[in-house]
Amino acid sequence: MNTQKSKHLFEKANQFIPGGVNSPVRAFKSVGGIPLFIKKAKGAYLYDEDGNRYIDYIASWGPMIMGHAYEPVVEAIQQKVIDSTSFGAPTELEVQLAQLICESIPNIDRIRMVNSGTEATMSAIRLARGFTGKNKIVKFAGCYHGHGDSFLIKAGSGAVTLGYPDSPGVTPGTAQDTLLAEYNDLQGVQKLVEANQGEIAAVIIEPIPGNMGCILPQEGFLEGLRQLCNRENIILIFDEVMTGFRLGFGGAQQTLGIEADIVTYGKVIGAGMPVGAYGGKEEIMDFIAPTGPVYQAGTLSGNPIAMIAGLTLLQYLKTHPEVYLQLDQKCEAIEIGLKDLLESKPLPYQINRIGSMISLHFTASPVVDFNTAANGNNQYFKDFFHGMLKRGIYLPPSAFESWFLSNALSLSDIDQTLAAAKETILEMETFAFGSRH
Ligand SMILES: *Cc1c(COP(=O)(O)O)cnc(C)c1O
Repeated sequence: MNTQKSKHLFEKANQFIPGGVNSPVRAFKSVGGIPLFIKKAKGAYLYDEDGNRYIDYIASWGPMIMGHAYEPVVEAIQQKVIDSTSFGAPTELEVQLAQLICESIPNIDRIRMVNSGTEATMSAIRLARGFTGKNKIVKFAGCYHGHGDSFLIKAGSGAVTLGYPDSPGVTPGTAQDTLLAEYNDLQGVQKLVEANQGEIAAVIIEPIPGNMGCILPQEGFLEGLRQLCNRENIILIFDEVMTGFRLGFGGAQQTLGIEADIVTYGKVIGAGMPVGAYGGKEEIMDFIAPTGPVYQAGTLSGNPIAMIAGLTLLQYLKTHPEVYLQLDQKCEAIEIGLKDLLESKPLPYQINRIGSMISLHFTASPVVDFNTAANGNNQYFKDFFHGMLKRGIYLPPSAFESWFLSNALSLSDIDQTLAAAKETILEMETFAFGSRH
């Protein structure tokens, strides 16, 4: 596969953009090699600057649930854009999108639009702090909530009251207000709550994490969190930036039958435009300015082009629930296919899947939290990633990311994907267990 133009562009990009990219995971650092520069995409396919075609399993990290350049969205944007791209004043479209969401999701009475998932989670914890008058938050190792200071805190293995900043530039003061727990470990959260009585404003969690691969909640874990938060007057925030409108129209809340106090959205809600949102019950949401004292604003929030894109996609998804069934079946076909290929092989593996999110981990033990996800063999992952890429299958360039399917994927695309996986696995076997010895 010729990728000369991407190579050239990446060299040039490095002169003008830090690391050549505007978001780190795009740089292929954890898998090595040169990132592909994408020229266009249609349906399930990405085309790079050298004209190579790839079957896409990132879907822009989620938003392109109906595939790229989905006609109704493209047409809606084209029609709207001639009326100007922004007004800095309210529009009917914002009301329509908010109404659609509030009427579809039982525990959302009001919703505020922002420009990214990061803004949504940052605003959600500010609101939770303002509403409860408490300062600390609990987050889970391996859950990603965007790049707000409070979320860039890593597990200080067993550190109960002190979090350590994960990034220079995050102050110790901020880090101290973020308490870390392990996903699927309810007791750990209970201990944190006991050690910080009356100080915890919110627990924020990806109810079904997609940022350490795809991880499923164990029986009782989220139910237990819900009860604990009720008992202790802690705001439970579900970060559904990834799962919202993807696992089903009602997201993880609907799939799991558990309601959070504040829910954050992003990705699918903007159909590929920069949109995020946070919503919840009236009494909490009315604490935001201008009704309430918690300040949060945005020059481009509720941008009309972003709103028409999101509204068009969500209206379609709401009236076509079969999309979710089809996505589930397609993803199941991939799961079964990969299992068939790997079952008889000496490569240790785990596959986690729910709906159209799936991840493959090269490890022998079940992947249930950050530590077990981090146990995966990264060399195997790199080999698998590059083996697939050179066969025209574009997977997330990190073992810590879920794959995202779009409904534009055809059965023949899936067959092609599995054929590429078969060759890749054979190549890995030969390399790992043949020629190396
Ligand atoms: C992507 C993501 C975010 C951040 O959204 P941005 O739009 O990249 O700021 C937050 N939370 C979760 C769960 C995400 O997957």
